[in-house]
Amino acid sequence: MSKESTTCSKQDLHYLPSDQPVFSCKGCSCVIALQDELCSKGFTGGSGKAFLINSTINTNLGKKEERKLITGTHTCADLLCASCGASLGWKYLKTPTAEQKYKENRFILEQAKIVKENNW
Ligand SMILES: [Zn+2]
Repeated sequence: MSKESTTCSKQDLHYLPSDQPVFSCKGCSCVIALQDELCSKGFTGGSGKAFLINSTINTNLGKKEERKLITGTHTCADLLCASCGASLGWKYLKTPTAEQKYKENRFILEQAKIVKENNW
């Protein structure tokens, strides 16, 4: 294996075994999610295709706000890289209907903002 190790300068960031497929921040290469946590690929973010994912690491949340989407008004918070502060997507805090409840407490990662670390 010739995988480069992902190094971040800040100490409070989490590290994962290098054989785990992950998503990383495009800006600073910090690991932000395990690909195992991927829930759905069929989402659309502000800049195009996006993933719905169960959990992230090394991220911070921005201000909570209501967003009017095609599917109704959702309460969301911006998802920011904890290392470089780049916006990566958002977290769903509250969804308008029961059918959409599965999205609550899950995260949207915009494909344009992240790097897939395996089979690249
Ligand atoms: Zn970053």
